[in-house]
Amino acid sequence: MKENITDTQRLPYRLREPFLTTTELALFHALKIIVEDRFLVCPKVSLNDIFYIVRPNENVHFFNKFFRKHADFLLCDPQTLAPAFGVEILRQNSKNEARENDKFMAGLFIDAGLPLVHVRSSESYDHAELVLLLQLAVAKIDETISTRAASDSDSVPQCPICGKMMVLRIKRTSRNFGKKYYGCMDSPGCAGVVAID
Ligand SMILES: [Zn+2]
Repeated sequence: MKENITDTQRLPYRLREPFLTTTELALFHALKIIVEDRFLVCPKVSLNDIFYIVRPNENVHFFNKFFRKHADFLLCDPQTLAPAFGVEILRQNSKNEARENDKFMAGLFIDAGLPLVHVRSSESYDHAELVLLLQLAVAKIDETISTRAASDSDSVPQCPICGKMMVLRIKRTSRNFGKKYYGCMDSPGCAGVVAID
């Protein structure tokens, strides 16, 4: 007679059921209807798979903040699977911690240039409202990118000698060590320098 496999012999993994909650599933179907075949709707995508951290050794804190989290849905290009939108459900009656997380997600997506839509948790979703939220998210990203481009070109001076772009540099010589300044992109060919106060 075959012995039953006891719990201690099994690996400690069990299937999560259901995979999506009722409200997540309802949003999944609503998103599928409104995006038709323009995007693929992917549920629960790890943030660590969508974004990467620059200078990971310096930014351990930022890595810890995001590596266990996921986006509720990611809308991807159906051919390349390039991410086009993140969609997050705003859980009602959420605690402070959850609200902090919503803010964190909004900042992360906007800063990385990917539109994020926050949708209030519901048993059914208004299609027209979802379309509007997607449009608003795109408008917000466009605005952020153009504001950033404007402020970048305002603050970076042109080389006073040759007129080319300048780059932020840090002095490595003992005198004024660590002091930031703008140097010509053609340096050392061009000696143009602009001091930063
Ligand atoms: Zn120059």
